[in-house]
Amino acid sequence: MKVRFRSDNPTETLELGRRLGRFLLGGDVVLLKGDLGAGKTALAQGIGQWLGVTEGLTSPTFTLIQEYPVRKGQLTLVHMDLYRLRHPEEAEVIGVEDHFQQDKICVIEWPEVAAELLPDDALVVELKGSGDEPRRIIMNSSDSGWAERLNTFAEPSVGLMPSKQQYLGGYDEIPHS
Ligand code: ADP
Ligand code: MG
Repeated sequence: MKVRFRSDNPTETLELGRRLGRFLLGGDVVLLKGDLGAGKTALAQGIGQWLGVTEGLTSPTFTLIQEYPVRKGQLTLVHMDLYRLRHPEEAEVIGVEDHFQQDKICVIEWPEVAAELLPDDALVVELKGSGDEPRRIIMNSSDSGWAERLNTFAEPSVGLMPSKQQYLGGYDEIPHS
């Protein structure tokens, strides 16, 4: 199950993050893929806003892993940025895997280097586009639980869509591009 959205500006990406945030549960891992400046941090900020993280969520490029207490519930939002890692072993050394716990929600920018450590039931979010271009944001998971949640997330009738324009439709098989 894949769902696609379009975002025309940073505010829309932030809003999409907020709307995704309400679907997140403890133990979830969200992988944010896309080039530099695609909007990964913007989406992560939206998630943080929905979860009631009061601290400004910035790109944890230098700290790599930043934890934020979530206002409601006994959860922690873990925001990682693995951009600076070069070898999979480094991801192991900094303890990426240790955060995959039921009381944490992990949002990971540049997750590729840690591919071997990542759970199969992660939500994969791909952001395409840069500069002033509109972004295409594609959410996908091989996990059946996520497929169900994505369905609801993209369902127009429940009013969870960012906007009619933004939602580009969901499909089970990605067509050739
Ligand atoms: P990343 O974390 O992927 O490197 P950021 O979220 O830090 O990206 O930055 C995205 C940049 O792109 C910001 O400067 C933002 O203003 C700009 N931008 C332009 N259009 C969009 C959009 N539709 N969504 C998100 N960011 C956008
Ligand atoms: Mg970033």
